[in-house]
Amino acid sequence: MSVRPWRDIERRKCRQIMVGTVPVGGDAPIAVQSMTNTVTSDVQATIRQVNELAEAGADIVRVSCPDPESTAALKEIVKHSPVPIVADIHFHYKRGIEAAEAGAACLRINPGNIGSEARVREVIKAAKDHGCSMRIGVNGGSLEKDLLEKYGEPCPEAMVESALDHARILQDNDFHEFKISVKASDVFLTVAAYHALAEAIDCPLHLGVTEAGGLRTGAVKSAIGLGSLLWAGIGDTIRVSLSADPVEEVKVGYDILKSLGLRHRGVNVISCPSCARQGFNVIETVEKLEKRLAHVTTPMTLSVIGCVVNGPGEARETDIGFTGGGAGKEHGMVYINGSPDHRLDNDRLVDHLVELVEKRAAEIKAEEERAAVAAE
Ligand code: SF4
Repeated sequence: MSVRPWRDIERRKCRQIMVGTVPVGGDAPIAVQSMTNTVTSDVQATIRQVNELAEAGADIVRVSCPDPESTAALKEIVKHSPVPIVADIHFHYKRGIEAAEAGAACLRINPGNIGSEARVREVIKAAKDHGCSMRIGVNGGSLEKDLLEKYGEPCPEAMVESALDHARILQDNDFHEFKISVKASDVFLTVAAYHALAEAIDCPLHLGVTEAGGLRTGAVKSAIGLGSLLWAGIGDTIRVSLSADPVEEVKVGYDILKSLGLRHRGVNVISCPSCARQGFNVIETVEKLEKRLAHVTTPMTLSVIGCVVNGPGEARETDIGFTGGGAGKEHGMVYINGSPDHRLDNDRLVDHLVELVEKRAAEIKAEEERAAVAAE
């Protein structure tokens, strides 16, 4: 019996596949993905962006392969990438074969859209030969004509039927290393389609609200769509689509997972909106802290609260906390592991909290390493 049952999320049971070295589905952590927006054949620029994404925490990165120059570049990109690379293929079966040969960990390809059965078999053979998995990516905006005629408009039933049609082609060819996405730009359609798909098949599901919009609107839309699905236990890997720097997609992805307690990375800052009672400038301090602590990957919590109205209560639940002394006061209280520890002058606030967080992160890492050695 869980201590806090209202926080429990029971994940949908599904089989597990591998995307290179990253397990997706089953009891594997929910993987965070993003996609490069460089010209893929510009190898240096693409590798640079893949590295930025990996540094931000992306477990898997997708790269678009629209032409032979891109799949030719893929080999070098894969060689230098710290994370598995998914090749995004549309229509051209040859790009699929080339990408598998170049070392892509996964092909994002819809087998029903690449032509004859012989072509499909060739792509599947290349994927099998090179240990490559696949993602069937159904999109509400590009459903097959016959399904649109049958259903009249993009709807959950049409999207699921499309996904299952593609899946059947892979299954008929004895290929089972695949996951599916059924994305739409409409949150209701996306959520309903994933719910129906989750009932219909036992493969891992890749979640996304497609063409979600710019940084703020896209993050909110994704948080509603992906958040509600993840809360219902649906979803094994996620990509937040934003018209913004792809690094932001990774950050928003983690923020969604963190909010649901599904995965933690880095410092979770709990801060108040501030008001006339604040003992220091909360907004400016949090901005500075988030920047200075972006490099910390160890999961931990830091509360930064303007006054004693909510400060001590929030600090009780965090690794490190600071509560302002109230309007006009020059100092506040630092909390360590939930207990008041020492007074701190406001003008040393940022530097001191950064020091404390870095020290605690190093301690947690050392404890984990000791535990790992003991377990061996
Ligand atoms: S914690 Fe204090 S400073 Fe922050 S919003 Fe609440 S009352 Fe205002």
